[in-house]
Amino acid sequence: MSEFSLIDIIRRRCTSSRSDVVLGIGDDAALVEVPPGCELAVCTDTLVAGIHFPLGTTAFDIGWKSLAVNLSDLAAMGATPAWAVLALTLPTDDVQFVAGFADGFAALARMHKVALIGGDTTQGPLCISVTVHGLVPRGQAMRRDGARPGDLVFVSGTLGDAAAGLQYVSGHLRGQDSDLLKQRLNRPEPRVAGGLALRGLASACIDISDGLVADLGHVAKASGVAIEIDRWKLPTSFALQSCCTSALRTQLQLSGGDDYELAFTVPAEKIDAMNDALAGVDCAITCIGRVVEGEGVRVVDSDGNEISTLHGGWEHFS
Ligand code: ADP
Ligand code: MG
Repeated sequence: MSEFSLIDIIRRRCTSSRSDVVLGIGDDAALVEVPPGCELAVCTDTLVAGIHFPLGTTAFDIGWKSLAVNLSDLAAMGATPAWAVLALTLPTDDVQFVAGFADGFAALARMHKVALIGGDTTQGPLCISVTVHGLVPRGQAMRRDGARPGDLVFVSGTLGDAAAGLQYVSGHLRGQDSDLLKQRLNRPEPRVAGGLALRGLASACIDISDGLVADLGHVAKASGVAIEIDRWKLPTSFALQSCCTSALRTQLQLSGGDDYELAFTVPAEKIDAMNDALAGVDCAITCIGRVVEGEGVRVVDSDGNEISTLHGGWEHFS
């Protein structure tokens, strides 16, 4: 099977009807039309087999996740997803894998009206790199550097589920009822609608990919503030609650990673407007703490004692 036949499999499975794609897959570069008054939000995330997904992950799930982690970044910026580019490195010309991968990618792309407009296909150890482009009205993107003392800190959804799912997949946790947790690991649902609703309301926003404390640490540093998290407020799914001890649960929720939820800060006077904006959106949120003066992220327990979070988030090369 030639490189071009593989590209054709992908192209045929990832069709889209966006009218702003002037020229899609097939030429030296794609051409797209950026609407006037908009900025382009651009980001790339790479998934390496065995590092960003367990080796037994299905082709469909790998395709889905490779787009999901990128859409999560756009969600955190408050950008509307538009176009994607896919660099695929494959060990062999495995048609079944490519078809399954493309189906998973296409399933999520369709949900968010994302057009796959190009890419690159090479041979080597399995590795997927996706670049997405989103649109945001000029000057309105949510950044990491806007948190101010007095703002409240929120997260969407529940925390720690994907990290627990990984514990099941790797055999460190055993038992039934792990399907929901594994689903959260393999099919993250980027909070695109939530991110759009928060635009103009959140003072800072980030998506949680490396772990809550590590990612809020980026917000604290960029904003020049400290963040305090109340451990007992962390939103917890029933599935997570029933699968492990509270000590492990806390560790997974604070530093497990792969949540792909939004963590954001909101000034007190905008809380009502935020609740209104989120009312029509399927995106539950929980207040977990506050922004204060200082630096770094502190997690406190209900007795007021600080919890050590020595296990930071996931970091390559460390
Ligand atoms: P070039 O040699 O000009 O760099 P390629 O031969 O690599 O182009 O690719 C041919 C066309 O197929 C290009 O339009 C490219 O964007 C697209 N393409 C290649 N690989 C992929 C992929 N994995 N997914 C989507 N489009 C791809
Ligand atoms: Mg060329």
